[in-house]
Amino acid sequence: MPALTDKAYVESLLTRHGFSFSKALGQNFLINPSVCPRMAQACGVGPEGTVLEIGPGIGVLTRELAQRAGRVLAVELDERLRPVLAETLADCPNVEVIYGDAMQMDLAALLREKGAGPAAVCANLPYYITSPLIMRLLESRLPVQTVTVLVQKEAADRLCAQPGTRESGAVTLAVAYYAAPEKLFRVSAGSFLPAPKVDSTAISLHIRPRPPVETDPDKLFAVVRAAFGQRRKTLCNALQAGGYDKTAVAQALRQLSLPAAARAEQLTLAQMAALAAVL
Ligand code: SAM
Repeated sequence: MPALTDKAYVESLLTRHGFSFSKALGQNFLINPSVCPRMAQACGVGPEGTVLEIGPGIGVLTRELAQRAGRVLAVELDERLRPVLAETLADCPNVEVIYGDAMQMDLAALLREKGAGPAAVCANLPYYITSPLIMRLLESRLPVQTVTVLVQKEAADRLCAQPGTRESGAVTLAVAYYAAPEKLFRVSAGSFLPAPKVDSTAISLHIRPRPPVETDPDKLFAVVRAAFGQRRKTLCNALQAGGYDKTAVAQALRQLSLPAAARAEQLTLAQMAALAAVL
C-alpha cells in the first residue's frame, strides 16, 4: 500500500470511498512523512505497551504506532471512516478501532479492559475539542505515563505556559497539576490535508506520580474555572460572578498577601491552591 502521507494517494483513497472532510470534526490529516514517526517515538511505548489514540482519521499515525507498540486502541467518532480504516489498517492485527465519542467514552475503563503493559496516549487532536479533551484525559486519571499530542500552536502555548504568566489559563493550571508539559517540535500548516490556517506544535505531558500541591482537586478546579471564567475581571469580581462571596475573597487575598486587584493569570498553582483552601 502506498504511504498515507502521499497526497495524491490519500486523495484517490478518499474519493474512492466517497469521503469528504468534516471541518466540524476537526479533520486535518497529516501528510508530512516526518511527523508521525517522531510522535510515535516520543510517546515512548514499546512492544510490551498499549497506545490509546484519539481520532485515527485514515490511520497515518496509527500505522506508525502499530509498528512500535504491542497494542493500539484507536477511538474514532466518524463512522464514515470505517471502510477506509478497514482498508488502511488491514495489515495491522494489533490495532483495534473503537467507534464512538472520546468525550463521552470511559477511556480509563477502556484501557483497563483492553490494554496491557505500560500505556500512553498519542494523537493528532481535533482542534475544536483540544482543551476539554486534554482536561478529560488528565482528570480521568488514565493509567498512562505520557500524553503526546499535536495541537494548534496557540493551544500548545497555553497548555505549556508557566502558571502565573500572561499566557496561562484554566487548562494551564490543570496541566501543571497533573503533568509536566514539554514542547517537542513545530509542525507547519502545510503538513496537513486540508491545510489549516495556523501551525501546530507537538507536545508531551509527562504525568506526575503525585500532584505538586496538596489540595482537594474538586475545590481547586472549581475556583480555577470561576477565576478564569471572567478573564478580564479581577479575581475578586470573577469569583463573585462564579458564586463566591466577594468579602470572603477579598479577605482571602489579604490573608495570602496577594494584591486586591490580582487577576487569575497572575497566580501560580500553589497560590491558587492556597486560595481554594482558604475559601
Ligand atoms: N490522526 C489522523 C491524522 O493525524 O491524520 C486524524 C487527525 S484529525 C486532526 C482528528 C480526528 O479526530 C478525525 O479523524 C476526527 O474524525 C476525529 N474526531 C473528532 N472528534 C472526535 C471525538 N469526539 N472522538 C473521537 N474522534 C474524534
